Amino acid sequence: MKFATRLIHGSHAIDPVTGALSIPIHQTSTFAQESVDHFGKYDYARSGNPTREALEEAIADLEGGSRAFAFGSGMAAISSALMLFSPGDHLVVCEDVYGGAFRVLTRLFGQWGLKVTFVDATSLQAIEAAITPATRGIYLESPSNPLLKITDLKGAAAIAKRHGLLTLVDSTFMTPYLQRPLELGCDIVLHSGTKFLNGHSDVVCGFAVVQDADLAARIGFVQNAFGAILGPQDCWLTLRGLRTLKVRMEESQRSAIKIAAWLASHPRVTRVYYPGLESHPGYAVHAAQASGPGAVLSFELESYELTKGLLEGIDLAAFAVSLGGVESILSYPAKMSHAAMPASERASRGISDTLVRLSVGLEDADDLIADLGRLIGA
Ligand SMILES: *Cc1c(COP(=O)(O)O)cnc(C)c1O
Repeated sequence: MKFATRLIHGSHAIDPVTGALSIPIHQTSTFAQESVDHFGKYDYARSGNPTREALEEAIADLEGGSRAFAFGSGMAAISSALMLFSPGDHLVVCEDVYGGAFRVLTRLFGQWGLKVTFVDATSLQAIEAAITPATRGIYLESPSNPLLKITDLKGAAAIAKRHGLLTLVDSTFMTPYLQRPLELGCDIVLHSGTKFLNGHSDVVCGFAVVQDADLAARIGFVQNAFGAILGPQDCWLTLRGLRTLKVRMEESQRSAIKIAAWLASHPRVTRVYYPGLESHPGYAVHAAQASGPGAVLSFELESYELTKGLLEGIDLAAFAVSLGGVESILSYPAKMSHAAMPASERASRGISDTLVRLSVGLEDADDLIADLGRLIGA
């Protein structure tokens, strides 16, 4: 079955007891057992809950994986996946990485003995050159946050295979509707489900998805042992949001393409970062590995005054942290998603004080353009 059909039927677990078209929210911490010798499928809700299981099965199916694991946030998913490594292990990480991932790598896992080298992952040579005898994994985002840099995921996964490394990809901006890294040879797909997967700005959640059975067992062990699971209410809300993933992504992406073109021709916009623009350096690589450019773009304005005026004056987008909701969200990476990164690191990565990130929601694209035009000039 095609993605759209699986999206509806896979995220549509029917209650086996009543036939209800929506899986119940199993709001329980534990499950009664009948026999001392034989426990049922569910025993304690950290280890398993039918509502969470329905969501995990839907996400695994959409990513083309064998197992998915739901966590209490994208950072919990990322951190739990990083638990697969040991003190002294080394990771090669894309330099343009989500601020929270940078923070957990450098300040938490760093303190605990994980070594990291940040590289410009738009270059496969740079990735390979950073590999040392202690390297155990490559951690990527494509498109990256906030500069929408593109990594050749198939190429990176091939390098990883040659060196016996795991490839981890944070695919939050794409969702499995637009890009499926497991099919490109990557090992672990990570998501902040808070964003497009849930899509309604009302849940914080995260996922790790794998194909390999041994890797699934290892992440399953971490999920249960470390325990950063997603609760049943949030699993249910995410299942509900997931059903409209295709129509939301399609509509938001259509608007994003229009807005990116408008921004690219605007005299006071000095740069637009969007893999849907042919001028984007990663355009061809992205087009080969994803079926669309997505609904997040970043741009730079000619002055700080104009940037501040836009962020504070915008009506039709929330000036907020986050992305991927039904409402457009305008954010300021320097003080939001990448505030956890020291100013010098931000500057060296090109995250300037006039950089704005726009997540395009479901408003009419012309209304959004008019609102932007009101603040930066038509
Ligand atoms: C938001 C985000 C995260 C973190 O997810 P949370 O759900 O906020 O913990 C990780 N990666 C990317 C690309 C994100 O946008």
